Amino acid sequence: MTDSGKKPGIDAVQQSLLRKLPGVDHLLEIARTDATLSDVPNTVLTAAVRQVVDDHRKTILDNPEAITEALLSDPRLLSEVKTKVKSAMRLNLTPVINATGVVVHTNFGRSLLARQALDHVRGISDRYSNLEYNLASGKRGLRYSAVEGLLCEISGAEAAMVVNNNAAAVLLCLDTVARGREVIVSRGELVEIGGSFRIPDVMAKSGALLKEVGATNRTHLYDYQRAITDATGLLMKVHTSNFGIVGFTSSVPLNDLVALGKEHHLPVMEDLGSGTFIDFSKYGPLREPTVQDSVRAGADIVTFSGDKLLGGPQAGIILGKPDIIAKIRQNPLTRALRIDKLTLAALESTLRLYRDEKTAIASIPTLNMLTCPIESVEEKAASLKNLIEASGDPRLHAGLMDTVSMAGGGALPLMHLPSRSVGIEIEAMSADAIEKKMRKNDPPIIGRIEDGIFLMDMRTVQTDELPIIAHALTTCLKGIDDETTH
Ligand SMILES: *Cc1c(COP(=O)(O)O)cnc(C)c1O
Repeated sequence: MTDSGKKPGIDAVQQSLLRKLPGVDHLLEIARTDATLSDVPNTVLTAAVRQVVDDHRKTILDNPEAITEALLSDPRLLSEVKTKVKSAMRLNLTPVINATGVVVHTNFGRSLLARQALDHVRGISDRYSNLEYNLASGKRGLRYSAVEGLLCEISGAEAAMVVNNNAAAVLLCLDTVARGREVIVSRGELVEIGGSFRIPDVMAKSGALLKEVGATNRTHLYDYQRAITDATGLLMKVHTSNFGIVGFTSSVPLNDLVALGKEHHLPVMEDLGSGTFIDFSKYGPLREPTVQDSVRAGADIVTFSGDKLLGGPQAGIILGKPDIIAKIRQNPLTRALRIDKLTLAALESTLRLYRDEKTAIASIPTLNMLTCPIESVEEKAASLKNLIEASGDPRLHAGLMDTVSMAGGGALPLMHLPSRSVGIEIEAMSADAIEKKMRKNDPPIIGRIEDGIFLMDMRTVQTDELPIIAHALTTCLKGIDDETTH
């Protein structure tokens, strides 16, 4: 402490370790001559080297017992630099294996695109396209024309429009038809979707005035009737897709609301949320009103998501009466919320698949998983169990269990699909530790723990992912072996 140049509180051991620690320039020079690092951008390499040196300096100062001179050798530090570089070079957005059984999982990107949609995206992305160019007239065209006709054909609507997502669709519709006017909504339908999308908040942003009617569990036609005044601009219905009220309940059917709207010359809007063109009741326990039902009932505006039950890209679809759609197109907000061309390509191709229901179910992964018969899920579970058992390690136990999958995505939360999961137990490893290992795998595998067992639901796992899962589990065991031999 009295010696000049010494920091206060640093003892002789720390002094010697600090002297042994190579400088950034020295380590960088070694790293630059390493062939495996030759493609790494200089900024990345420098940052990694600096971080390794800084980390060690900090450890020497704060916790010198954790360090020996051997740990500060050039090869050791270089290997740490390589680890840091590897993690810096890895893409942040990466595929994961969804073994949660939640089909439309917002955290995992909701819907997997159909191959046809992917091909179209690829074909449009590295070429110019007729995005806003009318090839027949040689004049400027509308980007919406790529999907408007298809949407009308499939749904029976008279006009259509698409924007960035359904939240944008709702905002845009309210702003266009009800800015400064009252919008009548049932108290039982003032939903929060998650990610802070709440109907009352969106309403406030749009400049429309929310007029709540009825009670949480029951709303009647006369509730809407009595609330109508000169200030009313819209009657709105929100599909309460992410929760259910059970017991003494009633809500007003869209048909009745449409009749009331006609009587008072008021437009009626329905936010369907998930929105499906397919009647799922034909395929299993799922029940969800179709988009066609809402159009047929005469709603002036219907909105829904492109990437929930539709199984397409993120988008907000607006179906409606031609005069309203025309007004929406002229709203300056539309430009801010407009759909991107890659999304548009994916949406067009996905919609084309809906011209034939069998083709749609076979090629759109979301539909495929939602309608997948239990026997096929069972088959996947059995294959995975076999693959795992082929490893022959007696510490690894795989069992089949009956579980329930969910549609997810704020859609059909009360509709449970019977499913099969593979439960994993590894001797000397907790379920938490397995879960973490699988989550840190490349690619990450996300399952869940139930009753102390790590479970992977096979409804949302693709067949070509089964060997990857089996391999990850054997790697887990190798990890235990490495720890015990060290
Ligand atoms: C999911 C949902 C939305 C929001 O749709 P995004 O496509 O996620 O923007 C809006 N309303 C309802 C009822 C929903 O279920």
